[in-house]
Amino acid sequence: MKYKDNFAQRFMNSFMGKREEIKEEVKIPHIRKILKDLINVSDDKWGLYAFRREPLKGKFSEDKKLELIEKANECGRKYAKKIRKENGDITVYEIAKNLGVEVDYPQRPNGGGNIIFAQFVNPNKVTVFKDSVNKAFDLIEKENLEDLFNNVNIEEILLAHEIFHYIEENNGKNMFTQTETIRLWKLGNFKNDSNIVCLSEIAGMAFAKELLNLKYSPYILDSFLVYLYYPKVAYDLYREIMDIVRLS
Ligand SMILES: [Zn+2]
Repeated sequence: MKYKDNFAQRFMNSFMGKREEIKEEVKIPHIRKILKDLINVSDDKWGLYAFRREPLKGKFSEDKKLELIEKANECGRKYAKKIRKENGDITVYEIAKNLGVEVDYPQRPNGGGNIIFAQFVNPNKVTVFKDSVNKAFDLIEKENLEDLFNNVNIEEILLAHEIFHYIEENNGKNMFTQTETIRLWKLGNFKNDSNIVCLSEIAGMAFAKELLNLKYSPYILDSFLVYLYYPKVAYDLYREIMDIVRLS
């Protein structure tokens, strides 16, 4: 069984490292202000944000990162258009069904602890955890945030992203996110080439954005969904991406 991605591991790292800071009193802006800023962040900036979480990030120059980010975004968009063409104007739930993806919706992960929003497990199982989706729905309703999300529900965005991982796993031989590798080492006839994990994530977000015709990157959910559990950690993620926007 191979676990690919979960919308969460990366937050936990930033969370664990900052446990002490959480005790501090921090004035967190209103969630509407946070979302409004995040919505304006371009896909290439989100790509740089994703690269900061890439285990192999040290092996790439800044120019190379930008090139790979662009190609990963293109890859995601291309496959979304292909899926749309093949399936027509149907919901992402129906697309999952047509592709043979099994989706289940448990309340939260077994064992608890980590915050995970959705995951794909080889060969065709997607799990979307209802706890975060429900919490998101409640907050959106309470704060009247529907307009910011273009009335697309969070669950569809999570599902679309995971469908991309399914496509990678099952039809991915020629996909950029699968063919692009980096050589870790070579010794005589032995070599070890690795995929670049963050490219799959970037492409998955571009896929969901195109498929659902969103005006914003689904990466905004990194901060928004974490906000439902740990507002301070969400605010840190928000400040991180805003710094990237300012500095790059
Ligand atoms: Zn993913």
